Amino acid sequence: MVSSAICRPVWRRWRCRRGQPAAGQALGLRGLVSPGAASVAIRLDAQTAATTIEGERFLGLVGTGAFFSGGRPELIIRVDDGPAWTQPWQFVEREWDYQDLTLTGEAAEIDQQARDEERARLRTLWAIVTPTPQWDAPSRLPLDDYLYQSATYGGRRSYNGGPYLTYHEGVDFSAYAGTPVLAPAAGTVVLAERLYVRGGAVIVDHGLGVFSGFYHLSAVHATPGQVVRPGDLLGEVGTTGLSTGNHLHWDLLINGVWVDAAVWQEQGLACWALEALDRSCVP
Ligand SMILES: [Zn+2]
Repeated sequence: MVSSAICRPVWRRWRCRRGQPAAGQALGLRGLVSPGAASVAIRLDAQTAATTIEGERFLGLVGTGAFFSGGRPELIIRVDDGPAWTQPWQFVEREWDYQDLTLTGEAAEIDQQARDEERARLRTLWAIVTPTPQWDAPSRLPLDDYLYQSATYGGRRSYNGGPYLTYHEGVDFSAYAGTPVLAPAAGTVVLAERLYVRGGAVIVDHGLGVFSGFYHLSAVHATPGQVVRPGDLLGEVGTTGLSTGNHLHWDLLINGVWVDAAVWQEQGLACWALEALDRSCVP
């Protein structure tokens, strides 16, 4: 299943060949624009895509979070000041894990203010969209060695019997402490430090609104501003921050929305996006 679409102008209208997207995935849109087109704006319901134009080709990437409603959200594409092209888009239903978590003792006394401040600060980092993809190869896993995937993306979470109001924003890999954590794709490190919730943390900007994050690290081996290649060492697996055991939490944002990092990698959307811009994607 590929959650992507190829759009072409046909008699001054757009026609898109559609995949079957589900909530929690990135949706890629690519196509052709007239020579000299300066901008393309793409929106899927309330979500805005990060877009770029290279020559006569455009690429848009939009994220749908795990609470994105299914059904038929409306896709809108507009080039410069031209007419808006709209079409409802069929989403398929996806099944989610449900996790009931019981917090006791110290874990139940989370410093809500510190948690909110951390999230607000990261939101300002994720809001800075660098204009073009920095990656040039397929995305890879951030670990060569792990024991098992201990939590999937999107699992609904209830704390101490409450309602399922939150979901797991990344993918967890159970692994031994000290296991190397590697860059999954080229990019620029924008954060490398110890945080309250996420513990030892590294965040990489891959360009065009794509950010990956690596948390609960026992050691951080990256510095802000550092340009990384796929496979470069970012840190070591640990259990720092609000964590109950050694694991890597890997998350992926597309234009400010958490999507399933494992699906992004499995579907090969990194290379699909580069093809859209007529660039090569060499492992
Ligand atoms: Zn996690």
